[in-house]
Amino acid sequence: MRAARLEAIRTLALREVAKPRPGPGELLVRVEAVGICGSDRHMFKGEYPTALPVTLGHEFCGIVAEVGEGVSRFRGGERVTGDPNIACGWCARCREGRPNLCDKLTAIGVFRDGGFADCVIVPEGQAYGLPGDLDPLHGAFCEPLACCLHGLDVARIQPGDSVAVLGGGVIGLLMVQLAARAGARRIAMVTRQPVRRAVAISLGATEAIDPADEPVAALRDAVGGGADVVLECAGVPETFVQGLRMARRGGAFVLFGVMPAGVAVPVVPFDLLVNELRIESAWLNPFTHQRAADMVAAGTLELDRLISRTIGLDDVPGVVGAPAAAGDIKVIAVP
Ligand code: NAP
Repeated sequence: MRAARLEAIRTLALREVAKPRPGPGELLVRVEAVGICGSDRHMFKGEYPTALPVTLGHEFCGIVAEVGEGVSRFRGGERVTGDPNIACGWCARCREGRPNLCDKLTAIGVFRDGGFADCVIVPEGQAYGLPGDLDPLHGAFCEPLACCLHGLDVARIQPGDSVAVLGGGVIGLLMVQLAARAGARRIAMVTRQPVRRAVAISLGATEAIDPADEPVAALRDAVGGGADVVLECAGVPETFVQGLRMARRGGAFVLFGVMPAGVAVPVVPFDLLVNELRIESAWLNPFTHQRAADMVAAGTLELDRLISRTIGLDDVPGVVGAPAAAGDIKVIAVP
């Protein structure tokens, strides 16, 4: 079968590899659709740790093709989405109900072979059923949506709140929709590309701000003195620094974007102190994959407008290895 292998930092190539066999408790899933994530680009550049070599691709859905010994919930033929993040279940953090902070956390498409391939191995417990008539392209959104749901849980948006979303990639545009469903009264999207600002407005944002024009002041004008909740979804130093200044006194700032490991940003602790900001981070998808799968199955969110194009596996190395093309929101590979 074909697999897009990260063989070294900045070396990603489509290779012919042996089709894996499912071990006990595992499924072999024939990949139907697999999203390209900003994190794949971080991994390509060595900004996020991975195994090497490894097949990337952690936002996949597909059809169960074979089941290993002892599998009880699937027989073959079902459409599933895989939760790529595999916790040990036994460490101190797992036992306090925080599997995303597991000491031995591993992940499909990061530390074990993932979905930029014709097939992927998924432990049964990581697979969640999707309807047989669901568009598989929608199934590829379960993983990023599950992460966003955790971000929303952490943010604790209240009905009537004002929310600033920094970064109009797929994450930011999912966050806009989730914030609207959580009852936010004002939702301001801050992102550089006009096309993304327009999409954000069409998805429920009430304001769209160009960060080139004094974004902190513009945001404060737009929502009346600072946002109740700021969601940092860009993963760049500027948005971290700006986002902290966009929150109202006593408001919340949630770090969601991934900045390369080791990058430091200047902050002014005095301002954070006297404004009593609630500063949180939201990492991965603890206990949210089922909710995401249910929302995708129910068609709760607008997803088609987030899909810029589909590509074949052949194109994955070129697309992951280049910066996101202007105007692209979500690119999905269809093996
Ligand atoms: P993405 O497509 O790269 O979107 C981020 C967008 O932020 C960029 O495309 C860019 O859009 C915008 N941006 C860049 N600089 C900006 C600036 N100075 N001001 C305002 N906007 C700016 O990535 P994504 O897939 O949506 O993911 C967003 C981030 O979340 C990534 O860092 C990703 O790794 C991370 N992530 C985190 C988790 C988690 O569990 N915490 C899970 C999944 C993803 P414009 O060109 O329009 O400005």
